[in-house]
Amino acid sequence: MKVQGGCHCGAVRFEAELPNPPVPALDCNCSVCRKTGFLHIIVAHGDFELLTGRESLTSYRFGTGTAKHLFCRHCGVKSFYQPRSHPDAWSVNSNCLDESVELVVEQFDGRNWEQARTSLDAQK
Ligand SMILES: [Zn+2]
Repeated sequence: MKVQGGCHCGAVRFEAELPNPPVPALDCNCSVCRKTGFLHIIVAHGDFELLTGRESLTSYRFGTGTAKHLFCRHCGVKSFYQPRSHPDAWSVNSNCLDESVELVVEQFDGRNWEQARTSLDAQK
């Protein structure tokens, strides 16, 4: 299923290929996800295309600096970013899709990141 989305001002636009709904999503309780209201849909790099706005993206890093928290420098909205948990994928904010999709939401205990990451692998 192809979906489109982007930031608030429209500078950043992307297209992503998602599985048929309900689409798996992760609700993370870590400090940055809680404050940005980010609801993660993990999309393989190959299933994602940035349509416009590459020059509008700027990044914020903290902690280990592995994750690249990309946000639009005009409107401040973080519509997708490079997560530390999935190096081969982008994490797309389901709240930034043009049309809402049916989700099956799983909790991710990002405050205890190492443990939570291990249990993601254990489920595969
Ligand atoms: Zn924007």
